[in-house]
Amino acid sequence: MNEYRSPRVALLGAGSVGSQVARLLLERGDEYEARVGARLELAGIGVRNVSARRDVELPQELFTDDLEKLVASSDIVIELMGGIEPARTLLLGALKAGADVVTANKALVAAHGPELHEAAATVGAQLSFEAAVGGAIPIIRPLDASLAGDRVNRVMGIVNGTTNYILDKMHREGASLEEALRVATELGYAEADPTADIEGFDAASKATILASLAFHTTVPVESVYREGITGVTADMVAQAEKDGRVIKLLAICERVNGSGGERVNARVYPALVAADHPLAAVHEAKNAIFVEAEAAGDLMFYGAGAGGIETASAVLGDLVSLARRHIAGGPGTAVTPTANLTIAPMEEVVTRYQVTLEVRDQPGVMSRLAGLFGDSGVSMESIEQRSSDDESLATLVVGTHAAKEADLQSVITALAEHSDVVSVSSFVRAEAV
Ligand code: NAP
Repeated sequence: MNEYRSPRVALLGAGSVGSQVARLLLERGDEYEARVGARLELAGIGVRNVSARRDVELPQELFTDDLEKLVASSDIVIELMGGIEPARTLLLGALKAGADVVTANKALVAAHGPELHEAAATVGAQLSFEAAVGGAIPIIRPLDASLAGDRVNRVMGIVNGTTNYILDKMHREGASLEEALRVATELGYAEADPTADIEGFDAASKATILASLAFHTTVPVESVYREGITGVTADMVAQAEKDGRVIKLLAICERVNGSGGERVNARVYPALVAADHPLAAVHEAKNAIFVEAEAAGDLMFYGAGAGGIETASAVLGDLVSLARRHIAGGPGTAVTPTANLTIAPMEEVVTRYQVTLEVRDQPGVMSRLAGLFGDSGVSMESIEQRSSDDESLATLVVGTHAAKEADLQSVITALAEHSDVVSVSSFVRAEAV
């Protein structure tokens, strides 16, 4: 039997995820050895504060604050610190020196993926990031490898557990956004500063990663259209319930075919989903990603999108797979774009909409407003009138057929200026209805 040198593994970060990775790596050493064919040696754990209390008990002698030195002496580097720097510099250094890298850092992969992939490809090292989207859910490898022989047309997912928890609570309990956010913070689902989650930045990072993999092209994070959930009101949720729908924060990546040829679009916003669509059944802080592929048809990936131990599962899966390759030898398989698709701007996206208006309740108002929609090329599918506390006013809820975003925005502008209209209370896109 061949004798292999144990791959030296550097772990950067020992927080929620890192401490669980370290624990499992130490406790399950024999199992990993059997699966890999060599013992994985945890060479050290890089942190800021070597004497801080950790979620789990770990050997103190493993801790160091000299991350550069630790990285330089390792075959595989696992980055679980978060943030852009110093993670970016450390990982570029590791890859350039030929080490393989595992990271769960979606912000880093979204903003600097091409640079990291190129560094890996140049030396034949491997960069793996299964945990960067969907926590424990296997979605990166399915898109990159399992579906490599297919053509993915659309990826639509709930990729942020915090906002799903908040919206789910608003639906189930009629809670306001503020109340649901307060509970999410108390339970540890939301961070003290929830901006990255509720404004959709986290989901946009994940949309970039999913779109780039699904369409084998580069989708810069700056090109992702982003709206968070802060505009979602209890009224909008109640109307959705009444219509047999739910509001979910969706990350949508799709091929857009039109006069500009084939392009791609990635976007994040709260959208209406039919109550019987599989994504509507994703409750609490769970994540799910719905993939539409030409040959495979519809696929759904569901599970825990976050959590220390859950995310550790994805990280350790990457580690075992990298370690096997390390033992087998040969270069890694870098993720390199094979298509060069341009980005279709949000204005060209086609979807359905629901617009809620406060109007003056006077004869002919419905037909005048229908004309206004039609003038902008947007066809109404439904219109519902609700009474208002003020007898001189009425609330209209208008559903549209599929229309171009630019046309819908023209309608919104025209409505806001129309003498029959007191206010446009809300508009929400309908994606899976
Ligand atoms: P965390 O609990 O905040 O832990 C971060 C760890 O990194 C800490 O041990 C910290 O050291 C260390 N660290 C941070 N900056 C450092 C620096 N400049 N130098 C040295 N050490 C540094 O983070 P986490 O929740 O485990 O998340 C880690 C990564 O996984 C992030 O990229 C995150 O986006 C991703 N992720 C997390 C989850 C989840 O459920 N938590 C899910 C999916 C992906 P000290 O303890 O000494 O301060």
